[in-house]
Amino acid sequence: MRGNSLVVMLTCCVAAPGMAQTIVPAPTPTSPVPAAVTPLTPSQIIPGTNAVPPAPPIAPPPAPPARLDKLSPLGIKPDWLRLQSFHQTMTRVEFEAAMRDFYSDGSPMTPPWKMEPDGVVIQTGDPIKPEVRIAFSSRAESPLPSMRTWRRASEMPPLKGRPPLSDVHIAIDPGHIGGGYAQIEERYLSFAPGEAIQEGTLTLTTAQVLAERLKALGAYVSLVRDRLDPVTELRPSDLITPARQLLIESGFPQPQENYNGLTGDAKLLTVQWQSEKLFYRVSEIHARAKKVNTSIKPDVVLCLHYNAEAWGDATAPQFSPMSHMHVIVNGCYAPIELAQQDVRFEMFNRLFSRMHEEELPLAEAIASGMRSATELPAYVYTTNNARHVGTNAYIYARNLLANRIYECPVVYLEPFVMNHEETYRRLLLGHYLGRTLVAGRLQTSAIEDYVRGVVKGVLAYYQKRRPL
Ligand SMILES: [Zn+2]
Repeated sequence: MRGNSLVVMLTCCVAAPGMAQTIVPAPTPTSPVPAAVTPLTPSQIIPGTNAVPPAPPIAPPPAPPARLDKLSPLGIKPDWLRLQSFHQTMTRVEFEAAMRDFYSDGSPMTPPWKMEPDGVVIQTGDPIKPEVRIAFSSRAESPLPSMRTWRRASEMPPLKGRPPLSDVHIAIDPGHIGGGYAQIEERYLSFAPGEAIQEGTLTLTTAQVLAERLKALGAYVSLVRDRLDPVTELRPSDLITPARQLLIESGFPQPQENYNGLTGDAKLLTVQWQSEKLFYRVSEIHARAKKVNTSIKPDVVLCLHYNAEAWGDATAPQFSPMSHMHVIVNGCYAPIELAQQDVRFEMFNRLFSRMHEEELPLAEAIASGMRSATELPAYVYTTNNARHVGTNAYIYARNLLANRIYECPVVYLEPFVMNHEETYRRLLLGHYLGRTLVAGRLQTSAIEDYVRGVVKGVLAYYQKRRPL
């Protein structure tokens, strides 16, 4: 069980030792679990944020009536009326293709919506208006531009000889927080005293170098985070009550408060650990989404991450024998996720906004640029929380919080395995130009290769698709 689930679990957003748990803990005398409740695995408690697949549907008993008004952790009740603006903007054929090629995870379960010959009827979970119906168009036409703040490459003003990324507004989201938060967010890696790399610090450096290169090509660039501090104003101590509530609703009625001295699942099932996760993983992304959607309003967001394989105990981490890369677009929604009304709304909002039509070809161009700049092989998922999409071996669809709630195309990058020994040694050196001696060879900066790959892909995409 450990092998595959451990490796895959850590592929997006890295080795969080705590995330590497898939065991349903046995009820203990101190925290009895009522027989009628099936506890979620620790990793299911905050769904959509990690790689644990839901259990396969093995001859399920007749399901009780589903509660369709639930929200994801810290989720906001959606305004379902917003979907009305998509009336007659998409054909049934286009809708079914998008669902099949991007948004479905292939589960055979009945979804909380039903198809009619000329429309889709979605269950909202709202007792006052339990359904919303979106009529299909009889012929293809895009939604009105006023309904979205982002522009496709084909909608950019003609270049007329200006720098190639002129007018394009690119937001760069440096994944995680880094700095003094790296240990709490389990993104701190050190193989020897006095040295360490932190994913959130590396992504910020990468973002700063990338921003300058894109600006030099004419782009307007915004950083979603520009320092080693959270964007959210909330802290774990503000999230104690929702953390406790989450554990109780997940079948752990008397959770322990603090994780001092605890490891493994016991640590994950404490109010303290859940409140920290709600802080750095959920509240932080909601705050960034608010900034992206209401203030930055970019044409595209590039989410920068560095990947890792399971490194075990953070005080004695293990090297991984290989490094790899993949690029994520939004999609692959699991039934357990779609039971939450905000998640369901956000999926339909993305689908009808046709974000996938811009996201996939841009992701493919960036993946090609990064493949040539980094020479990394493609990562291969073996779990059902991700699905391969399109024709480029590096591209997967996943339902992540960031690529779901940022209301524009999002390309989410996962190159390099930080605990691959040579990669780790390169990353310790930070950003540099040219080559320097690493592990007995002259090597380029991994950060510089990352940036060159992204720039190459973004440039190729806009040069091919925007009016000259
Ligand atoms: Zn990450």
